[in-house]
Amino acid sequence: MKVVIVGGVAGGASCAARLRRLDENAEILMVERGPYVSYANCGLPYHIGGVIEKESSLLVASEKTFREQFAVDCRTNCEAIQISPDKHTVELRNVATGEVKTESYDKLVLSPGASSIRPPLPGIDLPGIFEVRTVPDARAIREWIEKGSLFLTGMDKYSGFQTVRPKSRAVVIGGGFIGLETAENLVHRGFDVTLLELGDQILAPLDPEMARIVQGHVERHGIRLALNDGVAGFKQAANGALEVLTKAGQKHSADIVILALGVRPDTALAKMAGLKIGDRGGIRVDDQMRTSHPDIFAVGDAIEVKDFVTDEWSLIALAGPANRQGRIAADVIAGRDSHFRGSQGTSIIGLFGGAAAWTGASEKTLKRLGDKDYEKIYLYPNSHAGYYPGARPIAMKVLFRKSDGRLLGAQALGEDMVDKRISALALALQMRATIYDLEEVEMCYAPQFGSAKDPVNFAGMIAADVLRGDMPICHWDSIGKGFVLDVRGPVELAVEHVPGAVNIPLGQLRARLGELPRDREIQVVCRSGQRAYSATRVLLQHGFKARTVSGGMLSRYHAFLFEQSNQERQRLEAMG
Ligand SMILES: Cc1cc2nc3c(=O)[nH]c(=O)nc-3n(C[C@H](O)[C@H](O)[C@H](O)COP(=O)(O)OP(=O)(O)OC[C@H]3O[C@@H](n4cnc5c(N)ncnc54)[C@H](O)[C@@H]3O)c2cc1C
Repeated sequence: MKVVIVGGVAGGASCAARLRRLDENAEILMVERGPYVSYANCGLPYHIGGVIEKESSLLVASEKTFREQFAVDCRTNCEAIQISPDKHTVELRNVATGEVKTESYDKLVLSPGASSIRPPLPGIDLPGIFEVRTVPDARAIREWIEKGSLFLTGMDKYSGFQTVRPKSRAVVIGGGFIGLETAENLVHRGFDVTLLELGDQILAPLDPEMARIVQGHVERHGIRLALNDGVAGFKQAANGALEVLTKAGQKHSADIVILALGVRPDTALAKMAGLKIGDRGGIRVDDQMRTSHPDIFAVGDAIEVKDFVTDEWSLIALAGPANRQGRIAADVIAGRDSHFRGSQGTSIIGLFGGAAAWTGASEKTLKRLGDKDYEKIYLYPNSHAGYYPGARPIAMKVLFRKSDGRLLGAQALGEDMVDKRISALALALQMRATIYDLEEVEMCYAPQFGSAKDPVNFAGMIAADVLRGDMPICHWDSIGKGFVLDVRGPVELAVEHVPGAVNIPLGQLRARLGELPRDREIQVVCRSGQRAYSATRVLLQHGFKARTVSGGMLSRYHAFLFEQSNQERQRLEAMG
């Protein structure tokens, strides 16, 4: 059996290696248009920033490795330019010489990835404007920065000795992973960075109130965010610097511009071959990675996948799914009955010592689908036992089905062990676990690693309390409709208070129940929701109608950030 694999990085290289492990006799040809196979594109922003100093560190396995260890005929600088599905042939062009050869195949695997979105804007080809997609892209950016060409061209303006190098300016366009990671690395390299984003938030998969926290974090670390504004074009100023012109009429000066406007599936070959393309613009495959032609498989960023939670076709450009799909395609070609389960979009991004991670559906996705059978909770557990030094709070949002408790999605932000919690929740989600299962998960614990009630358990316990009716909850958008009871201590109120709320500290509650109304719903608030939960239990057992404000004052902060205006504050103050 002869298998040709197009694309030699995440999906393609995984497929080639797996196939060889399963079948010693298969003839495997892997072609890669670029100069490297199996390189770590996820490491490129960190190479630009100098965290990964050597370019060679990004090269995970070479052409030679594939030839010698896997007996794969691996050809770099070799582009597949045409497929003839009926003849079972593919035309390959040597990128250096232009020579074209035809190769036959029994099975063909496409893993061509995605290409960066590059709109035909005026000036987009000016020197100093880069993408971050390949090793040569990262090399070009490093060379540009090291050359400092724009800085030097401005030197004639200075008289005498210039002893302080002026700060170079970078404009990053796009607030997704690649844009943000590159922006962070440019800050580390001393750039004054502006990040332009067309949407009203960065990191689109996050819910806005969670994204706002990340926005505050990156702004505090020096990234200037320009949201709700898109790029309109580029110009070269008289001093040699670039100018980024925006749709809102702004002008941002830059010594370097990074385009990170997102990616779109590379479907050129698939379209030419007449393969079915889905509504989202990716190659349509079944759960065994087979395209509309039975002998052609496709994997990675180029395909559409079923969203594990919503069952919608979606585009998920992530390395994990690409690797797993490559492996599944190899399994199926070798005669095994492997299936892809769909993708949850589990992701993480590290930024200035913090991390934002998520898995499964966001609230905005559920709203878009008109789903009403969900509830959400906010919680702020410590990353490990609070009494052990170094514990940091994790802001978590967990979404689950009201009807059966199934976990639907989770988002977490923090400076310590965020990945561990979202990874655990991602696994639970894929196992179709409920929040009742999360109550029972046995996480490893010693004080420096977690708590006897780990944040994952804690999320399950809170959510289960909600569904069992032990802790009815409400959210800040409903505050004001009920009687607001603040059960924090007076010192805390001095820092921040809810206008109009009645304060009875938790310790005095049982003695002062007579001060509370029996004919109105009582919305109980504290700092994070924990004391409010205890108070809610007291009230419910004394016949009051009570609800805990999920996440307490900490989630109110989200609400304010989300509102991005003082409207909510004014409304609450008016209540007073
Ligand atoms: C800067 C950056 C950072 C990232 N960080 C993360 C991260 O932290 N976490 C994460 O999960 N994902 C990350 N990703 C995404 C991840 O790298 C991709 O999802 C993954 O590589 C997709 O695998 P793939 O095989 O589909 O495509 P790729 O790995 O992109 O490989 C496709 C290859 O096919 C080649 N090719 C295309 N057409 C042809 C042709 N006709 N003939 C021959 N060769 C062809 C291309 O040259 C390319 O090398 C990052 C991506 C980038 C660019």
